[in-house]
Amino acid sequence: MHELFPEPIVGWIRVGIDRPIDIAGCGLTYAVGPDLGELSPGDAITVPLGRGNTPTAGWVLCSCPPPDPPLNTVKHVLARRNAVAIPPDLVRLGAWIARYYLAPIGPTLSSLVPSAVKRGTGTVQRRLLTQAPPPDECPRLGPAQKKVLHAIQSISETDQPIERRALRDLAGVATYGPIDALVRNGLLIETRRSDIEATWQATHLPAAAAPTPTAAQQTIIDDIGEVLDAGFSVHLMRGVTGSGKTEVYLRLIEQVLKAGHSALVLVPEISLTPQTAGRLSARFPDQQVALMHSALPAAARNAQWSAAKSGEARIVLGARSGVFAPIPPQSIGLIVVDEEHDASFKQDSTPRYHGRDVAIRRGQDANCPVLLCSATPSLESWHNANTRNDWTLHHLAERAPGLSIPRTRVVDRTAERREDPGGGAIGPTLRAALDRVLDGGHQALLLLNRRGWATYIACHDRRCGWTLQCEHCDVTMVYHRAGEVPGRGYLRCHHCHREVRLPKICPDCGGRPTRLGQGTQRLEEELLAIRTDLVLGETLVRMDSDSMQHIDHFHTVLAAFQRGEIRVLLGTQMIAKGLDVPGVQLVGVIDADTAMHLPDFRAAERTFQLVSQVTGRCGRGEMPGRAIVQTMDPDAPSIVQAASGETEAFLNAEVMMRRDALLPPITRMARVVIQHEDLTTCEKRSERVAAGLQALAPDSGVTLGPMPCPLPRLRGRHRREVLLTAITGQDLQAWLHEALAQRVLHDPAIMVDVDPISLL
Ligand code: ADP
Ligand code: ZN
Ligand code: ZN
Repeated sequence: MHELFPEPIVGWIRVGIDRPIDIAGCGLTYAVGPDLGELSPGDAITVPLGRGNTPTAGWVLCSCPPPDPPLNTVKHVLARRNAVAIPPDLVRLGAWIARYYLAPIGPTLSSLVPSAVKRGTGTVQRRLLTQAPPPDECPRLGPAQKKVLHAIQSISETDQPIERRALRDLAGVATYGPIDALVRNGLLIETRRSDIEATWQATHLPAAAAPTPTAAQQTIIDDIGEVLDAGFSVHLMRGVTGSGKTEVYLRLIEQVLKAGHSALVLVPEISLTPQTAGRLSARFPDQQVALMHSALPAAARNAQWSAAKSGEARIVLGARSGVFAPIPPQSIGLIVVDEEHDASFKQDSTPRYHGRDVAIRRGQDANCPVLLCSATPSLESWHNANTRNDWTLHHLAERAPGLSIPRTRVVDRTAERREDPGGGAIGPTLRAALDRVLDGGHQALLLLNRRGWATYIACHDRRCGWTLQCEHCDVTMVYHRAGEVPGRGYLRCHHCHREVRLPKICPDCGGRPTRLGQGTQRLEEELLAIRTDLVLGETLVRMDSDSMQHIDHFHTVLAAFQRGEIRVLLGTQMIAKGLDVPGVQLVGVIDADTAMHLPDFRAAERTFQLVSQVTGRCGRGEMPGRAIVQTMDPDAPSIVQAASGETEAFLNAEVMMRRDALLPPITRMARVVIQHEDLTTCEKRSERVAAGLQALAPDSGVTLGPMPCPLPRLRGRHRREVLLTAITGQDLQAWLHEALAQRVLHDPAIMVDVDPISLL
């Protein structure tokens, strides 16, 4: 066919195919025929794929020269797709992500645009009418048509075009018939426009007066303010919790807006967006704040996306995926990454990107400053800020005026338990403090980083040693209470979500299974028992991913806590972040050790962050607050230093340890996980992958493994891993890309995670 009647070719393009192929690739090459018009990067198209030439969705990456040598089979782009185009700078960003994180290019591009936008959810077709210039000879009109003409003549030209429906109502005619007849005989002109219905808006707080910055804040505002126009730079602002970091970036955003630019603010979790959106809109009451996160209703996502794209909203606030807000690159004046250390910035499915690092890349592309903020910077950012020329470190050493330093006490739970063996999760010290605060009419925040009621089920007979494991995963199943009924519940695997009933007897010895370990549901029961004045769901509220299924729920709970109606808020790490509630007088950490014993080189860093962050939630009003940290390991440096606020000492000591162990941030890491249903196959493949990677290692490269993953079986698949480290990111990238080219990593059962955060 092609040889006999070759289709004319007007150009060549590379296409990102929306299929999990072309890992870290730069697209497949297609010919463009004359009838498609000019194709630009980001345009949505359909192309033939594979031997069957199946029409497949794809994105235009770039135009390219004719293939040399010429292709055996030339394939033509089939058609344009009826989908919104990806802005060209996001195409560049997506291509970088695909390369850097070894992700398939097409699906990576698709993931940059919310599906609500791709589908055009909430788009309405508007039919608009204007009056046509009067014709030389007026056709004969019926009375209804005359009414319509009079109606449109009665409105001023500036109010035209008018919507079809509005015109019908104005004319007082019963149907659209007369309007359509006037369009047909040329007396009215109809245009069609698709609009996105703005169905959803961020809640506006009353405008708030800005406090006068302290000298320390002003120095940072001036320093960064000076380079706002000077192109790309990265700033790490470290400041104790409550030191007024938000105030610093609000001032900088003010300057950005004055200069006519837009600002992009990222927070690690959706749960933090209501508070930050509130502060942004209170400070900038005349500005629309576009929200970009996955918990918005679909039509709203579409509307907010358009508002960011058109520049209608010049402040854009988002969670991780907000980094893909379609703000035109020439408009972006500043990118802020708040709580930059937070692990939630890393996406745990393909593409496994880190929101902070993509934000930095985007700042580079848009040539604007990027401001990272944290009370407990990640070791990566701390190290970069101390060693790289284009990074600057800023420091707020003191809390904002009017805020006091929380007094933190570390409580040795082992010692306490010896005195009080029958006690629950709340030890005597914490109990006494809780009573004092609640009796005084104040509020408390209690953190327990484990969901459910009991964390595992074990045989009552210790000699037996049976624990209930998930059938598909190598983890214990968690006991959840069903509804509000105490004593009735089920077991759930937190990894594959399988549920089973509580067994009546131990399958190994016939003994009695017992429910062990404390989860948030059990803590809730304990609190209700010791403080009978608390009412569940009113003055006592639990906040974890089981209880918070919807963003609106968050709004409600946070607002009630802010107003002081909720006296005790208990929850998982969800409540440890960013909350700024003046009435909180006590923060209790039930078990600071939850993160400490994870098989992860960042365990100490995580523990330090969690304890520092949560204790920073108190003392935000006029009264000093106190924090009580319960631990089995009261001498652990991460806990002691977090409690005493020695952030710099902790960071520096941790960098030293990482240096000795050749771990990130001193080296760069990639994790390769090989999964298979069959253990022997999994083992064999992992040996092969490890050997292949080892053979390609650069001078500074180290391969570790193959070894079983800390979670050796997940969803019925065995998991083995190989860890790679290299001294520089370039070395690591070259290594991985060579391994891809040599087909060491081509197997779909292989998962590659570059700069991994979770090592489970
Ligand atoms: P961070 O982000 O560092 O945790 P915030 O920006 O939330 O701190 O500030 C904590 C509180 O202090 C907020 O209520 C804020 O309004 C207030 N604040 C910040 N800067 C000042 C200032 N210069 N004067 C008075 N209050 C301030
Ligand atoms: Zn499971
Ligand atoms: Zn048993």
